Amino acid sequence: MDYFPIFLDIRNRPVVIVGGGEIAARKVALLRRAQAAITVVAPTLNDSLAQQLAQGELSYRAGEFCDDDLNRCALVVAATDDAGINRAVYEAAEKRNLPVNVVDCPEFCRFIFPSIVDRTPVTVAVSTSGASPVLARMLRAHLETMIPAGYGRLASLLASFRDSARVRFSSMKSRRHFWERILQGPATEMVFSGREQDATRLIQDALNSGESAAEKSGEVALVGAGPGDPDLLTFRALRLMQQADVVLYDRLVSRAVLDLVRREAEQIYVGKKRDYHAVRQEEINQTLADLAKAGKRVVRLKGGDPFIFGRGGEEIATLAEQGVPFQVVPGITAASGCASYAGIPLTHRDYAQSVRFVTGQLKDGSIDLDWASLAQPQQTVVIYMGLQGLPVICKQLIAHGAAASLSVALVQQGTTVHQQVITGTLATLPALIAEKEIHAPTLLIVGEVVSLHKQLVWFQPLRND
Ligand code: SAH
Repeated sequence: MDYFPIFLDIRNRPVVIVGGGEIAARKVALLRRAQAAITVVAPTLNDSLAQQLAQGELSYRAGEFCDDDLNRCALVVAATDDAGINRAVYEAAEKRNLPVNVVDCPEFCRFIFPSIVDRTPVTVAVSTSGASPVLARMLRAHLETMIPAGYGRLASLLASFRDSARVRFSSMKSRRHFWERILQGPATEMVFSGREQDATRLIQDALNSGESAAEKSGEVALVGAGPGDPDLLTFRALRLMQQADVVLYDRLVSRAVLDLVRREAEQIYVGKKRDYHAVRQEEINQTLADLAKAGKRVVRLKGGDPFIFGRGGEEIATLAEQGVPFQVVPGITAASGCASYAGIPLTHRDYAQSVRFVTGQLKDGSIDLDWASLAQPQQTVVIYMGLQGLPVICKQLIAHGAAASLSVALVQQGTTVHQQVITGTLATLPALIAEKEIHAPTLLIVGEVVSLHKQLVWFQPLRND
């Protein structure tokens, strides 16, 4: 080990930063997060440091560095572009056995600044012992995505139970088992998803009863899987998928997304292709509840966003009725995924000040929509499930005052490597589509913004079919 990692308590401790420029300011910002009492030594200060000085956030000694600046100092950083001063700081610090860091000069460093993942009170520090700060930053970015933002809140919550756990379980071993059960149960996920009251209750109950209700109860996460590209999953969606015992998914969830589910998890297809092989909605609702009651961590994966034409509301209503804990994880809905990947901004200062999401699903052969309002100018209309009804939709919009020349795009398999965009007008698109082989799912975008597609198109995957 080249450097020994430790965590320093520098709250209200005197720390000296030599230098008044950009790099010094960055170190000041970092050390201030740990509440150090900072003195900057430099002939002049840059704007940001001057502002902090004015706000009383640091002390300042104007002038060149001298050895006496290190009197009573607990830690020193040199961040000047003058090699002579940097060396003088290092030597003065060495004489006093003071930890010193000279920025970008490993040979003059008694300590180095790690890359930090800050989930106070949880802190992760990464160092490559100076070998490659860029590598450390990349590793940090990786950790940032893996460590939920709520980690700090979780640690604080656990800390608040520390004393009562000590009273409840006198041996260290039983205490450790208790905390292991809690951390492997649903309480952690409750904290991450903003249900701290539930988590508190769960831990309290577990403490009272001595054994853990926390570990027995399962829960359901209704997770938006986005429109297809697995990169569009949220961190939370991915985390839940990798912790799941059972995953229920339907036709819209892409293979690439399913590949990210924990391998050991049971995968249940509940898709519907029109009425073929459909599992009835009530049956899905009840299955979710039953699995959770059996203690499983259940993920219900829905294409796009679960609350946009996804019947997500119905599925969790059953859970709510039966007292099964659940959470909803939003996903990128087809409208925003397809629009972005097709280079069609859904709103635009010149063309559309509002956007509407509607379903074009035929009900008894007719589509029941407020055509007059959909035909209004200066808006974009996104139609889900609109392929079958396309001729009717175009005809009705024209009949209610939309220009026959209004642009329309049909986006097939949006955001996937198979994406295809067909553009036309209300007058021409139905015939254009009739000639082509179309692959579901497809989304219609109607409005002047569609005319920007040719100019803004950027997503052009190489197709191997
Ligand atoms: N909850 C989903 C929508 C479910 S309705 C969401 O938020 O996206 C199903 C319809 O969504 C499909 O008929 C199609 O119109 C649209 N859709 C979903 N994914 C799509 C994709 N990758 N490309 C094009 N349309 C898509």
